[in-house]
Order: sequence, then C-alpha cells, then structure tokens
Amino acid sequence: MKITYSIIAPIFNEKENLSDLHRRVAVVMESTGEAWELILVDDGSTDGSTDLIHELAKRDKHVRPIIFARNFGHQIAITAGWDYARGDAVVIIDADLQDPPELILEMAKKWREGYEVVYAVRTEREGESWFKLWTASLFYRLIYRITDVKIPLDTGDFRLMDRKVVNVLRQMRERHRFPRGMSAWVGFKQIGVEYKRAARLAGETKYPFRKMFRLALNAVTGFSYFPLQVATFFGFISAGLAILAMPVVIYLRVSGSQAFFGQATTLLAVLFLGGVQLICLGILGEYVGRLYDEAKGRPLYIIRDAPED
Ligand code: UDP
Ligand code: MG
Repeated sequence: MKITYSIIAPIFNEKENLSDLHRRVAVVMESTGEAWELILVDDGSTDGSTDLIHELAKRDKHVRPIIFARNFGHQIAITAGWDYARGDAVVIIDADLQDPPELILEMAKKWREGYEVVYAVRTEREGESWFKLWTASLFYRLIYRITDVKIPLDTGDFRLMDRKVVNVLRQMRERHRFPRGMSAWVGFKQIGVEYKRAARLAGETKYPFRKMFRLALNAVTGFSYFPLQVATFFGFISAGLAILAMPVVIYLRVSGSQAFFGQATTLLAVLFLGGVQLICLGILGEYVGRLYDEAKGRPLYIIRDAPED
C-alpha cells in the first residue's frame, strides 16, 4: 500500500508519553483518510520505553519501531527516521507532545498547496524555564546572524517535508548534524505555520545544558566559518596594534623616556596574547575534531531491531 504520511518521533525515556502520543497521532492521521505510519525511533531508552514501543507495534500495524543499540542523540534518531520513512510527506514530531499532532493537518494543507517544507514556528512556549527561553532565543538569533543559511527564527524540528526534500537530506551523511539547518539549506518552497508550544506532558527535558551547548556548536560549525574568521580578525587587530606601537616604543627608548619601565605590561601582553592564541587553537580544534569524525566514516547509528517489513 502506498503510504502518504510518515510521522517520526524520537524516543529517549518517554514511557509516560508514548501511549498518548500514539493515540493522538492515530486520531489525527485517521481523520485524513489516507495511509500513514508512525516511526518510533528508540534512542537507547532505559526506562522501559523499548518494550512499550514493541507492544504498540504489535497492537497497531501503523507503528514501525526502530530500536538503537545505544543513545545516539535526537538528531541521529531523526536521521534514522528519514532513512526508514516511506511516506510522500514526512513529519518530525517530539514524543513529549510539546508539538501538537493536530497541527499536522494544517501542515498537510500547506503541503497540498505545493509547499515542500512546512515548519512550525513557536509563538509561545509554556512550562519552560526562563533560562531555557532566554538561551534558546539568543541561540536562534545568533545562528541567524552568523550562518550562511537563513534558518527561520523560533523554529524547532517539528516540520513536514516532501519526499523530494527527504531524499536530498538522506544524501547528507554528516555526523554532527543540525536538522533544522539542513532542511533550510536544501532550499525548496518553504513556509511556516504558527503554533503555541505546550508544556511537556510528562517527564523531564532530555536536553540538559550540555546537550544544548553541543547542538549549538554543531549548528555553528556545520553552517559557518565565522569562529575561524574571528581568529583571523583578532590576529590582524593585535598585529596591527603591535606595528603601530613599534615606532612609538623605539622613539621613547631612544629619547631616554622611562614610560615603559617594569614588567607588568609585558606580562599582561604575553598573557593576553597567549589566551587569545589558545582560544583560537580551541576553535580550530573544534573543526579539526569534526573533520576527524567525518573521516572515520563510521555508521551514523547502530540498530538493534529494525522494522519487520
Ligand atoms: N530525544 C532523543 N534523544 C536524546 C534526547 C532527546 O531522542 O538524546 C528526544 C526526546 O525523547 C524527545 C525529543 O528528542 O522526543 C525532544 O527532547 P526534549 O523534549 O527533551 O527536548 P526539549 O523539548 O526540552 O527541548
Ligand atoms: Mg520537549
């Protein structure tokens, strides 16, 4: 049977949310009267989500489980979903029901009108700490400014994409991924639909600061050379200052002035430049480390149980 809609939900310890997710997605998708599938990607859950996913799949043939051998991260789970999706339209949705499945109908309408990427824009976010709201807002704006692709502001991974788009994304096998950036990078006809982001149904966020920071780094390094250019910029500034200062220092020395007596100035300058150089090395290291990871060419994910079909 030809599948129209593939819904992909990455699952990392979402036991309490799974049944509701399945129920709400099923209601929405049945109302379209078209064939659909729900791909549940278990990203190394340890709370019993895995068994529940298998159980759902046994009860409902729409559910296709992909079980990872360990935790590979949200972005990689989405990628596995893309690889297995069979639908003409592919939707990514969070498993914690922060993204209302009902919005898929509105996205599908835009898709029918001919849009190839329909992304969901958050107008409001409920039940989120001010720290998360603030860092997220800052992050979206920073990425918008310094990357080469115009990633829409306040947009998460919740989106519907046409088969054509997914086929292109599947060819992009980079290891450090930023799916929102990737789906903006490919072009095509894109449009946003607005929604109010609800609070998490149950459980805690699976994105501690550490993971958020890593995602932000992936976004920056994956889509821009800005940090490297900052290093060049700093280099030119300090070299320029030094060149300007040289004749001045020579003149003062020759004329017998005592203005530059003492070691504190020298020490500070050395420390400052040492710091700047180490930071630049670190930035370089971020890129080199990523290069190394890509060169190894390991599989993006390891699957313990794939869908039966
Ligand atoms: N997730 C995942 N692997 C991870 C972390 C998160 O598959 O390592 C899933 C998680 O189960 C959820 C989605 O990614 O379906 C978004 O995570 P979460 O809701 O915790 O992020 P937040 O909404 O707090 O940014
Ligand atoms: Mg969430």
